[in-house]
Amino acid sequence: MYFVTQEMDFCYGHRLLNYDGKCRNLHGHNGKLEVLLGGETLDHRGMLIDFTDIKLLLRTWIEENLDHRMLLHESDPLLPLLQTHDQPVFVMDSNPTAENIARVIYERALHLGLPIREVRLWETPKASSIYRRT
Ligand SMILES: [Zn+2]
Repeated sequence: MYFVTQEMDFCYGHRLLNYDGKCRNLHGHNGKLEVLLGGETLDHRGMLIDFTDIKLLLRTWIEENLDHRMLLHESDPLLPLLQTHDQPVFVMDSNPTAENIARVIYERALHLGLPIREVRLWETPKASSIYRRT
């Protein structure tokens, strides 16, 4: 197997529903994303995938959809208010935990045709969540 990784930084805000800790309030993170792509074969250039293609596809989607946005659950009562005031939001059908954000990015990478194997989201410099499928 061949693997390549790429890191991307993005800033996001969120709050968690049904949670009693500090993260139940609106707050933000300087997140760091690590994506792992893998495959059995290389192309005629000897590459699994061109790093530029990862950047063009996935980084562009993250910049347009997640970066500097509030990531909120679709049932969050603050969502209509923020939308009314043209605040940039990304609506999720699950609680916007680091685990679920990592899954959303994994699924987007699959949809974009990338040979994604794992997504790791560092919510803080010392805490990360990983999503992969076996
Ligand atoms: Zn948080």
